[in-house]
Amino acid sequence: MTDMPQLIDPFDRTINYLRVSVTDRCDFRCVYCMSENMTFLPKKELLTLEELDRLCSVFISQGIRKLRITGGEPLVRRGIMDFFESISRHLGNGLNELTLTTNGSQLTRFSDDLARFGVKRVNISLDTLDAQKFKDITRWGHLTKVLDGIEAAQAAGIRVKINMVALKGTNEDELEDVIRWCAEKDMDITFIEVMPMGDMGGEDRLDQYWALSDLRKRIEKTWALTDIPENTGGPARYVRISETGQKIGFITPMTHNFCESCNRVRLTCTGQLFQCLGQEKETDLRKSLRDNLGNDAPVVDAIRGAIALKPKGHDFSYDRKEVAGEMSRHMSHTGG
Ligand code: SAM
Ligand code: SF4
Repeated sequence: MTDMPQLIDPFDRTINYLRVSVTDRCDFRCVYCMSENMTFLPKKELLTLEELDRLCSVFISQGIRKLRITGGEPLVRRGIMDFFESISRHLGNGLNELTLTTNGSQLTRFSDDLARFGVKRVNISLDTLDAQKFKDITRWGHLTKVLDGIEAAQAAGIRVKINMVALKGTNEDELEDVIRWCAEKDMDITFIEVMPMGDMGGEDRLDQYWALSDLRKRIEKTWALTDIPENTGGPARYVRISETGQKIGFITPMTHNFCESCNRVRLTCTGQLFQCLGQEKETDLRKSLRDNLGNDAPVVDAIRGAIALKPKGHDFSYDRKEVAGEMSRHMSHTGG
């Protein structure tokens, strides 16, 4: 595959990972992600599933090797299994991995199909094992549905990783229990620092902020941790728990600079390409798609032009107890 095109940005980073938000809608209303009364985009604004397929295929032809489908909740988009089935044709033929991030609520329905379409791993977001707290955080979700979804995914042979947003005063007391529960189920877990996204008020986010350096120190009181040098090109750093063999990730967009090894770009459900999660710069690929039916060359040019503008890094910071570099758009729009 060495003679296949590659996407290289101005800082000599190879961009081979595309995260695609396929919808801004969701069946949950997590407090750190959405307001209770969200206004969603009109349907005509969204890329159709055919347009998503066309655009992802062009990306793969240009050097994208890993595709992560996200949202909003990707599994509530109507017809999404048709998209998975269709895009899976690239696996082993340019594409190395097809995966998704989901809240898990629809996995009892879709796990078998996902496995059939080549999905081998899935990230499931779960912040608590307490049914009432789960309701408080997600507003509309039901814990049992997600737990059933996790079982269904594992039964289908899909490897599950749990993503847990560290929320001070909310799931602090469950830290050890959640790690033990994941170990029993042979699941890795990644902790995420809460980020100032959307218009839900930076102040609330700051109250919930639980530095993962503190969280790590707490884990070290119970288990021995060994750093894993693995670098996936993103904001996650990994350790292994010696006693359980489990891998634990820490996503610390605020406290560490991970930008130098960044390998990814993000596509919104309306076809806007964000070169960087923390910057407002975007490129309208939907226009390029719709203006050039049957001709992908201008789409390739637009993608290459966008990669050539990828900034060096982001501006998030909780320094001086202020939320700086706060983004006005919601995580559900760009895909987390
Ligand atoms: N609905 C799917 C889910 O929840 O996994 C996929 C989209 S969701 C936006 C992706 C990830 O972003 C989830 O793990 C969620 O917990 C995380 N997330 C959302 N808002 C966040 C915030 N303000 N700070 C940190 N993580 C956030
Ligand atoms: Fe939905 Fe995921 Fe946002 Fe929660 S974090 S509201 S599940 S998109």
